[in-house]
Amino acid sequence: MKKVYLDYAATAPTDPEVIKAMEPYFFEKFGNPSSIHSFGQEAKKAVEESRQALASSLGAKPEEIIFTSGGTEADNFAIFGVAAALEKKGNHIIASAIEHHAVGEPCKFLEKKGFKVTYVGVDKSGIVSPDDVKKAITDKTILISIMHANNEIGAIQPIAEFGKLAKAKGIYFHTDAVQTVGHIPVNVDELNVDLLALAGHKFYGPKGVGALYIRKGTRIERFLHGGDQERGLRASTHNTPGIVGLAKAAELCRQKMQEESEFQARLRDRLITEIPKKIPEVYLNGHPAKRLPNNVNFSIRYIEGESMLLNLDMLGIAASTGSACTSTSLEPSHVLLAIGLPADIAHGSLRLTLGRWTKEDDIDYLLERLPKIVEKLRAMSPLYEKK
Ligand SMILES: *Cc1c(COP(=O)(O)O)cnc(C)c1O
Repeated sequence: MKKVYLDYAATAPTDPEVIKAMEPYFFEKFGNPSSIHSFGQEAKKAVEESRQALASSLGAKPEEIIFTSGGTEADNFAIFGVAAALEKKGNHIIASAIEHHAVGEPCKFLEKKGFKVTYVGVDKSGIVSPDDVKKAITDKTILISIMHANNEIGAIQPIAEFGKLAKAKGIYFHTDAVQTVGHIPVNVDELNVDLLALAGHKFYGPKGVGALYIRKGTRIERFLHGGDQERGLRASTHNTPGIVGLAKAAELCRQKMQEESEFQARLRDRLITEIPKKIPEVYLNGHPAKRLPNNVNFSIRYIEGESMLLNLDMLGIAASTGSACTSTSLEPSHVLLAIGLPADIAHGSLRLTLGRWTKEDDIDYLLERLPKIVEKLRAMSPLYEKK
């Protein structure tokens, strides 16, 4: 059976070139980068070269990069770390209503500990207004956290503007850039960010490794306590193969980004124009233009998202409804609710995300199969018959 993977926003395969770069660091060059001997020094050299390469791809300095176990840890570190360092200064945080749970849950946790969090809403297309952020700022605000691009609907936020607002008030600004690094240009100075989270497996690197960019001079407490790795900011033995893979993946993306994003945007736009021609009553979620080159998200009325996914899966097509982290629960996505969809429509959403190995004929295959599935499911839906 043909297999079509259209769930790159959940995770991507590791590029074989990345695997090749990682390989020596499992057996041959396995040393602990904190060891004095030659085994350790050889591994340390690889970690530091990777730090330099990753930093330069973000327009950052090497000492501003802290390697983590992924996007979640980087986001948790940013939020808990700043909250702990500045709790005497203030107890107010601003976040958007459409953050990934890796940001949303730490915020909720801090609320239980006495912090106040303002969740700024979004417009119909999923964009946060700088004016709303400005209005939410109080003299107790210590941190603003707004994601660069949303993982469900692909909306790209005006990050540089939020950063400017934050800077003018002396407030730290964090962005979750897990969906953008490797896919669209990300430069920490152009975006005016103090903190930025990224994860390897979303841009063809390995899973279980990521990084937090921390602008020089930012006050932050360590998150993982233990050894004094990463200048005392993040304990635990370095994941040398993962770190090498992360940097290699970033380098490959830098070389391929222009071409890849143009190709994916063309396939994305085919889906965006052709799906509504083939299926009645479908609505695009997210912004038509301020959108990740690889993201398509439709609400398909009178359809249960889960049944659609199962039917697609039977034909070898991997897609998603909501995000991978929420799709096992029956709660409608907080992102779709935030853009104003009623719960019943939010349940019938389909996310298709493309990537490095997506081919034109994968799109043909989907466009041919999806309308039949929708037709079949609607024929069984009492809601559809009644109208
Ligand atoms: C995937 C993702 C994360 C979590 O990253 P992990 O590496 O899986 O921990 C955080 N934020 C966004 C926007 C994501 O898409």
